[in-house]
Amino acid sequence: MGADLDGEDEARLISALAATLDPSRFEYHVEAAEGGVFADATRSSTRVVNWACIFLNRAGFAGGAGCALHLAALECGESPIDWKPSVCWQLPIKVGWEQGGDGTEVATVRGWTRADWGAEGEAMAWCCTEGTLAYVGDRPVVESMAAELTAIVGPEVYGELRRRLEP
Ligand code: SF4
Repeated sequence: MGADLDGEDEARLISALAATLDPSRFEYHVEAAEGGVFADATRSSTRVVNWACIFLNRAGFAGGAGCALHLAALECGESPIDWKPSVCWQLPIKVGWEQGGDGTEVATVRGWTRADWGAEGEAMAWCCTEGTLAYVGDRPVVESMAAELTAIVGPEVYGELRRRLEP
């Protein structure tokens, strides 16, 4: 979802998009139709089915493995940023908000860590920010995640970020 949607608007949009997914591309469409796509009435997280997110098409699924929302966005020629929950397209970027001294808000953009998930983080695999598979891209994150960073901080701040990180 675009960075400007609040939680309820985002939930509404995900719900609507889920209803438009082609069943041949959405492995758990029956479960979604029967019990919805959210974990509970707060609609703040997606439902877990068979130990993973309801939108995750498993390996071997004929319609394509991976996030059904992501795949559908690409199929429509649109950005997955406009289809997936914010926390999903932002990963592994984490945005922390703090009150500034003068009534402003200060946003800190960094990578997620296990500690951010409390005790549950210990059991999580973080292949994108930890271990030998992390930070091995052929381009800097500021370049490879340009669309995500721009959506998070806005084009002006992103441009400044680029300028400051120029070699
Ligand atoms: S990216 Fe998000 S919505 Fe898609 S399968 Fe993963 S957790 Fe679910």
